[in-house]
Amino acid sequence: MAKLAMFGGSRTIDRGSVPAEQIRWPIVTEAEHESARRVFDSGSFTSNSTGGGEVAALEREWAEFVGAPYCAAVSNGTAAIELALAAAGIEPGAEILVPALSFVASAVGAVQRMLVPVFVDIDPVTFAMSPAAAKELITPRTRAILVVHLHGLPADMTAFRELADQHGLLLIEDAAQSHGASYRGQRTGTLGDIATFSLNVVKNLPTCGEGGLITTADPELHRKVVLHRQFGEDLTRRERDYVSRVLAGNAKLSAVQAAFARCQLDRLAEYDAARQVNVRAMFDSLAGLPGLLLPAVPEDRTHAWHILRMRFDPVAMGCPEVAPGALRTILHRALRAEGVPLQQYQLVPLPWQEAFRERAGFGGYPWKLNDVAPVAHRAEDYPVTTAVIEDSLTLQRWHLNPNSGPVLLRCAEAMHKVWENLDTLIPIARSVEHRPPWSEFTEERGEA
Ligand SMILES: *Cc1c(COP(=O)(O)O)cnc(C)c1O
Repeated sequence: MAKLAMFGGSRTIDRGSVPAEQIRWPIVTEAEHESARRVFDSGSFTSNSTGGGEVAALEREWAEFVGAPYCAAVSNGTAAIELALAAAGIEPGAEILVPALSFVASAVGAVQRMLVPVFVDIDPVTFAMSPAAAKELITPRTRAILVVHLHGLPADMTAFRELADQHGLLLIEDAAQSHGASYRGQRTGTLGDIATFSLNVVKNLPTCGEGGLITTADPELHRKVVLHRQFGEDLTRRERDYVSRVLAGNAKLSAVQAAFARCQLDRLAEYDAARQVNVRAMFDSLAGLPGLLLPAVPEDRTHAWHILRMRFDPVAMGCPEVAPGALRTILHRALRAEGVPLQQYQLVPLPWQEAFRERAGFGGYPWKLNDVAPVAHRAEDYPVTTAVIEDSLTLQRWHLNPNSGPVLLRCAEAMHKVWENLDTLIPIARSVEHRPPWSEFTEERGEA
């Protein structure tokens, strides 16, 4: 049995020797260089609403790609969420359901519009918001559901559509991680009333920096998004009149970002196809590992594989007495030592992040609008979110590269090696004192 790198054995993957062509992201080709030069030469550097230019071209191409009638490009994915909510005209103090497990932007976009985020537990299979848990949290103040297609897998949109219709709620998709993924034959970005995408450099459709896209089938929502994108000015008039129709800031996309994203969009389908093959091959080689639960993809949808989350089961690994979080810490350490680029993605659920616990930033608003005192969330309020965080490992980035097949197989090899050494690792996991990051807050507030 090979000695683990964490105990002085040789590493499975020497990160310094992994060819950059296999793991770099995003991939920049001559097309991107040319597109930037084209923008510099054109002298047109930002969004315009006249239908010409890189920004308008990106909007047309993205609308066509996802199958949405309208698309507006904006400055980033977080601004996209704010603008979608602004366009819907939801009043300050209204509640919006957001998943307890997501990138913080999903909830912060709502707070920026003075909406109160109500955190909902997730589904153990899709890792997206649970429709059943969401239903329980609807109140007379609820106005919207923000569903995140987490890690690139579409959420249960039929159930959310039904729920939204029953209660007259806006259904918004945060599709920042799911470019190109589809649900029952329709791409994300067409599954709710309005959808937001990020073009951040780490996403599946990256630009050379920051960007975002908003799609909808509703012409009125689209018109308002565009109004809110630039100071509330109506730019469909023949001449700009510098009169603001609504209070709004500046969330325009620059032409260089749009031109770069268009080049990436040209290759999105090809990269996605390669990713499907590479990720599947890696999972195939992991299929036999005892207690390892690979991500499930329900038959009615496709996965964009933005993040790979693998759960594990201490019972099936022969150590039912070990806390999953303790085992995760040791597996994480052992795999990192072997050269696997695991990341600690979102170890603290949103309700327990300091910003939301302390309501820091806007002097206690938007919560103060409703006179709602801080709630002490209990771990039992989010049983699936907390369980999933404790018993899973996440891989980001490398697999986005379409040439990452060989290095992903090396990652699988490292996992096999670590699993072969479970006998040495489990006693260590048993001896570490593990407390989940949220335990300190739940106890403290529980006693008060
Ligand atoms: C990245 C991301 C965002 C925010 O996008 P930015 O372009 O970085 O502002 C929002 N939601 C989710 C789920 C994300 O992953």
